[in-house]
Amino acid sequence: MAHIVVVGGGIGGLPTAFELRHILPREHQVTLISDRDKFTFIPSLPWVAFDETPLENVQLEIEPLLKGRDIGWIDGRVTHLDPHEQILKVGDRTIAYDYLTISTGAALKLEAVPGLGPEGGYTHSVCNPHHAVLAREAWKEFEKNPGPLVVGAVPGASCMGPAYEFALLADHILRKKGLRDRVPITFVSPEPYAGHLGIGGMANSGKLVTQLFEMKQIEWIENAAVTEITPDTICLAGGRRLPFKFSMLLPPFKGAQFLCDVPGLADAKGFVPVLPTYRHPEFPSIYSVGIATQLAPPEKTPVPIGVPKTGQMTESMGMAVVHNIALDLGVIQGDPVKPTLEAICMADFGDTGIIFIAQPVLPELESGTRRRAVAKRGIWVSWIKTAFERFFMAKLQNGLGVPWFEQLGLSMLGIRLVEPLSETERLEVMTHGSRSSGSRIGVAGESVQNS
Ligand SMILES: Cc1cc2nc3c(=O)[nH]c(=O)nc-3n(C[C@H](O)[C@H](O)[C@H](O)COP(=O)(O)OP(=O)(O)OC[C@H]3O[C@@H](n4cnc5c(N)ncnc54)[C@H](O)[C@@H]3O)c2cc1C
Repeated sequence: MAHIVVVGGGIGGLPTAFELRHILPREHQVTLISDRDKFTFIPSLPWVAFDETPLENVQLEIEPLLKGRDIGWIDGRVTHLDPHEQILKVGDRTIAYDYLTISTGAALKLEAVPGLGPEGGYTHSVCNPHHAVLAREAWKEFEKNPGPLVVGAVPGASCMGPAYEFALLADHILRKKGLRDRVPITFVSPEPYAGHLGIGGMANSGKLVTQLFEMKQIEWIENAAVTEITPDTICLAGGRRLPFKFSMLLPPFKGAQFLCDVPGLADAKGFVPVLPTYRHPEFPSIYSVGIATQLAPPEKTPVPIGVPKTGQMTESMGMAVVHNIALDLGVIQGDPVKPTLEAICMADFGDTGIIFIAQPVLPELESGTRRRAVAKRGIWVSWIKTAFERFFMAKLQNGLGVPWFEQLGLSMLGIRLVEPLSETERLEVMTHGSRSSGSRIGVAGESVQNS
């Protein structure tokens, strides 16, 4: 019997825990640990910041989701991990594991730029539920006394989609409220060009966003390196200063602290390196899913920018990890798989939106191209995004990770979540040895009360 522990109850962790429970016989124990007792559908947080939807609408309490599903639940923060002993600490509890899936998402590097907020700074963020609520309260005040709005990201940020959403949603909402003529909007981005998105652009993404910016009179500044933020001014390298009354600037992401504390576990930013199977190269009992995972940028840019790790990429990593753990346990037969990192991503701008289909999200290494890259604009994107949020919440409420009908729908769009390894990748995995060598399966200590 093996104990599989999943850390992080977000878009990566919950579906992974459900899929593990679905595929593994009951003799194996699955436990989810998260430092928030609620799941948050993070892609909807820009709407929360504009008070267009209450936070509760995009959250689910985790414990009831696991009840009766034979998944153990620990509500707490992992503060310490010993990958040699295969134990982790949550408060004063020590949990032993046979397999660990890390899906702890993003910690925010607010220290990257002096004055970057909200904590200890002057700008807002929509990267976690608490920040979205702080932004909402500040936005309400801003509407009473509007002025210049600066939206974008600081150097090293990696998830540009929400910045575009925030700027264009702000335009839409301010127009609806008759306030737009009192709010000059400036978009500042470390991207080498608008629509680059950290992945080298997607079809006509650059043209689509710049057309929208022109249409909506939003000034945009590319290759922008924010160097300092004072209570009312954003300072850029090169000397330009942008006054603001409200600003939402995305910070760079980093890994959770307990990952950084373990020598050899994570890179300098705290992201977990993985083999093509999403297993750690040095610690064979550890897998990684989602934002916590290391992904190299496809190209070097004049101002640093990271790679986006979107929701569907995260789910496909989870699917691959579940398959590979089940294979290792001998529950299924076959070959290991890797996530395709093919994804559909939607950005909602209120009165329109852009859908991206990227196969894969990161261009092929050798050719620098993708098999398919589509970017389309239309109001229907906003409708689909809202419907998808409801679908995602409903599937979690029903204990489903990535159900067959979702996989069927994706395959009808020509999108697969996992695929076999190439010959080179197989060799790479073999070079790092199989999980079974030195396996400690069955030694997992403290048993966890299942919900
Ligand atoms: C504002 C915003 C908008 C986005 N919009 C989109 C979009 O439109 N489409 C899209 O595809 N992607 C979007 N993304 C990306 C998407 O949200 C991520 O891909 C996804 O959330 C990654 O899942 P994750 O499990 O890695 O992290 P998360 O979903 O953030 O989950 C991480 C979980 O780990 C927990 N945790 C952290 N540290 C610890 C610890 N030490 N111990 C225990 N638990 C811990 C956290 O509390 C959290 O519950 C957006 C991201 C942001 C920030």
